[in-house]
Amino acid sequence: MVDKKSQTLIENEKTVEELKIENANLKNQLSQKDHDKEILETKIDELIREIAQNREIIDKINANKAYKSTHATFEKLMEENTKLNTTIKPLKKKISDLESEIKTLNEIVKSIESDYSKLEQQSDSYKSSIVNLEQEKTQIKETSSKKIAEIQGKKVKKAKKKEDSKVTEEFKPDGRIAAKDKIVEGTSRRKCPICGNSNTHLIREVTDKSIIILDYPKVYGKKFVCGECGQSWRVKKE
Ligand SMILES: [Zn+2]
Repeated sequence: MVDKKSQTLIENEKTVEELKIENANLKNQLSQKDHDKEILETKIDELIREIAQNREIIDKINANKAYKSTHATFEKLMEENTKLNTTIKPLKKKISDLESEIKTLNEIVKSIESDYSKLEQQSDSYKSSIVNLEQEKTQIKETSSKKIAEIQGKKVKKAKKKEDSKVTEEFKPDGRIAAKDKIVEGTSRRKCPICGNSNTHLIREVTDKSIIILDYPKVYGKKFVCGECGQSWRVKKE
């Protein structure tokens, strides 16, 4: 019996021993796992740090990219600016040329305007002169037509008188026609008072027996006869 019991005890002891060993093994494994875990944790930390660094780098790269693109744009703009400046230079010169041209033209316009206003004043004065002259002309016309009417009236009277004298002269008792027309009064012996003929070759000086200057010896007056129109006239003693 004791043997059996002791046998069991031995076996139990053996199991305990085995369990102890297993436990030690497990503990050992556990510590190994802990160690591994620590290592992994460290690695994870490192990786996290690396990721953060990479992120920073990526950010930097992105920033750099943006800068580069901005810089490229900037350089392009600068280039364009330079081109524009070279284009602008002649345009600026042109503008200044045009401005000076405009200035000159403005001066010319001003002088033309002042000339024009002077001419307008002159034209106004000429217009008023013309109006005055027209008035004078009308007055002269009126006066001259009045005079013409007067002269024509006189002529008509004279013609009537001539007709009368012709009739009486034609019936003179000696049957002689003393004169073709009535003798008129002239101002010059060299000019016909009717037709204005002043050709001395065509003006005859003849004796006028109707005028007796002296009875003894008989001296008669003189008269002039126009060869152009046949008019006779006397001139008062000069
Ligand atoms: Zn005459």
